[in-house]
Amino acid sequence: MRIDIITILPSLLDGPFSNSIVQRAQDKGLAEVHVHDLRPYSNDKHKRVDDYAYGGGAGMVMTIEPIDRCINTLQSKLDYDEIIYMSPDGERLNQAICNQMSSLKNIILLCGHYKGIDERIREHLITREISIGDYVLSGGELAAAVLADSLIRLLPGVLGDETSALSDSFQDDLLSPPVYTRPLDYKGWTVPDILTSGHQAKIEGWRHDQAVLRTKERRPGLIGD
Ligand code: SAH
Repeated sequence: MRIDIITILPSLLDGPFSNSIVQRAQDKGLAEVHVHDLRPYSNDKHKRVDDYAYGGGAGMVMTIEPIDRCINTLQSKLDYDEIIYMSPDGERLNQAICNQMSSLKNIILLCGHYKGIDERIREHLITREISIGDYVLSGGELAAAVLADSLIRLLPGVLGDETSALSDSFQDDLLSPPVYTRPLDYKGWTVPDILTSGHQAKIEGWRHDQAVLRTKERRPGLIGD
């Protein structure tokens, strides 16, 4: 999978893609992340990428031209499955959307700022809009990093243990069961006996029961009817 991110703050995205699993996925050639600074695509002599909103009011709006030129440049080299605008009023991201999107080959993520982007970009250039939750960030970069991370970890070969993504929360509409590691006893805080019993079938049964219990307690809506 190849992810091209368009931003006015490329340095905000230095960290998320140069660590841990996401870095390893790129080293293994399983994922490619390219961050594009929008500013050089501006024809304005001051390289401006925003302007006052028609109709007045507080807050600047990102202009069409640099974004159109940047997307056109990317599209002249590659076909993209989706051109995604990160936006609080987009489809709210969940695991089912991540699973579905992780099979795409090439995607563009556009990060907004200020009051957002000129609506005509959304009408004519954007194919999908994703929100990472019902709250407002100051820019789309962190949202793009969240989306990219959630997709990259699902790519085959990225997680060491092939089954590990499947047992995460929200797969099968269940939250994950609790997990424990050494020591067996820390200040009298102990580990459930079943986990050290050696009965794999019973352990799996316990984990499933715990997952159901936890889901009913914390997120009853996931189980449905
Ligand atoms: N005026 C807009 C918010 C702009 S916030 C509104 O009220 O809807 C500035 C930018 O941050 C947005 O253009 C978007 O790219 C990004 N952003 C903010 N919150 C987000 C969220 N929950 N999910 C995805 N992107 C978000």
